[in-house]
Amino acid sequence: MDSVGVAAAAPDAGPGPAWQSKCPWGAPSTTSISCSLADVMSEQLAKELQLEEENAAFPEVVAAAEGPFITGENIDTSSDLMLAQMLQMEFDREYDAQLRREEKKINGDSKVSISFENYRKVHPYDSDSSEDEVDWQDTRHDPYRADKPTTTPRRGFIGKGKDITTKHDEVVCGRKNTARMENFAPEFQVGDGIGMDLKLSNQVFNALKQHAYSEERRSARLHEKKEHSTAEKAVDPKTRLLLYKMVNSGMLETITGCISTGKESVVFHAYGGNSATEDKVIPPECAIKVFKTTLNEFKNRDKYIKDDYRFKDRFSKLNPRKIIRMWAEKEMHNLTRMQNAGIPCPQVVILKKHVLVMSFIGQDQVPAPKLKDVTLSSEDMKKAYYQILNMMQQLYRECNLVHADLSEYNMLWHDGKVWLIDVSQSVEPTHPHGLEFLFRDCRNVSQFFQKGGVAEALNERELFNAVSGLNITADNEVDFQAEIEALEKMNEDHVQNHGKKLSAFSSDGDPPIYDE
Ligand code: ADP
Ligand code: MN
Repeated sequence: MDSVGVAAAAPDAGPGPAWQSKCPWGAPSTTSISCSLADVMSEQLAKELQLEEENAAFPEVVAAAEGPFITGENIDTSSDLMLAQMLQMEFDREYDAQLRREEKKINGDSKVSISFENYRKVHPYDSDSSEDEVDWQDTRHDPYRADKPTTTPRRGFIGKGKDITTKHDEVVCGRKNTARMENFAPEFQVGDGIGMDLKLSNQVFNALKQHAYSEERRSARLHEKKEHSTAEKAVDPKTRLLLYKMVNSGMLETITGCISTGKESVVFHAYGGNSATEDKVIPPECAIKVFKTTLNEFKNRDKYIKDDYRFKDRFSKLNPRKIIRMWAEKEMHNLTRMQNAGIPCPQVVILKKHVLVMSFIGQDQVPAPKLKDVTLSSEDMKKAYYQILNMMQQLYRECNLVHADLSEYNMLWHDGKVWLIDVSQSVEPTHPHGLEFLFRDCRNVSQFFQKGGVAEALNERELFNAVSGLNITADNEVDFQAEIEALEKMNEDHVQNHGKKLSAFSSDGDPPIYDE
């Protein structure tokens, strides 16, 4: 090595200065440093050394990150890995318990509290303790959710004679705006103003609305970013076992790896096996969606499932683990409905607890790109638009469903057409917020295609009418939303009085709703 050695100046290399040999403390001992200065200064080396150390300390992490996720061969080594993970979980749980104690101590019974949620290692749904049941109770009976403030009916005024109040009345208008905050994405935190008698001025409402929309976009972008991070590939031991079983039974050949890590789910790619026990044919490539929605997300998602009458009776009796399964079950049912209507979407292979196996949209492990990620020719863009318009109508009329999270993030471009995915949150149109969700879907779709240069694209209100077959005539968004809410309210009242849901907001015939 011809690099500059740090230890080059050894005393025996030549006659040293005179004072050195006479020194009462003796000559400095020759510590031979074997590496070069360049090495010592190298950050690269430092990193490598640190990595080496870390790898020695946490070997299982490395093992999990390499090679196919689960194959038939590596099953035997799985128990050690699982053991290690279970120990880790135990540790995490203790850590969280300590954290909770500290959180409690800091907050005392102050009204404004600091949450340590982000520092927790185990999400509540992971734990088997009975504590999550208690947490869950809290979410179900949300103390901050009061009735919506009343708004004026469609005729635009209430009262008689000089006591008449029109919808333009400042107070009424303010209340209406407050109530309308509920239409912002469920993720958007509007505080508990909805339950109070707040009166928002139009100006404040509009500013809030603008903010809500940009927040929606931002959260979608953030979600996207997270999907690409590799850090969260892990699934809990029980899920892992479930996945092993699928491979073991021959239903799946290999689970190659994770294709998406989102807030609510982890999606894996797998090659289908040729199991003899299952009577249906397994697609050559599968997507496995593992639902992992945390309690925090439930709080937001409550809105979708709590009011869905199909799940109403069951909802109140379930614990978090079972609720996660219900999301998976919902996605399965909705996909099946769509499949029956001929809408391009993944085909359900099997549902096991909170794990849904479906056909893979894409090829050779490469998932089809999302609509927001492909650059389509203007011709394809137009084609895609009309296809989506058609699919939305089919979804509404034939499947009796509203997607409720429709955007360029949940549409894949594959085989020259658009495929719909991610339908666990889809609801029937008569869901108490079904039409609001539809309107939001319409807004996303129409904005995407108008920005994408499709001149034929309807605006959100036209699209809403085209999909639902309703004929809401309001020419501005605020009034349009108000009419949507009025319809929902009428339907709810009808349900209250007659004890059953209307099959749809049908516009033909003589519907009992939308009838002044
Ligand atoms: P999330 O609730 O996390 O958004 P999604 O169902 O949208 O769950 O799935 C997340 C991502 O995984 C999708 O954006 C898509 O890229 C991929 N994905 C999901 N299902 C499939 C599938 N059947 N085929 C191919 N890719 C899929
Ligand atoms: Mn999605």
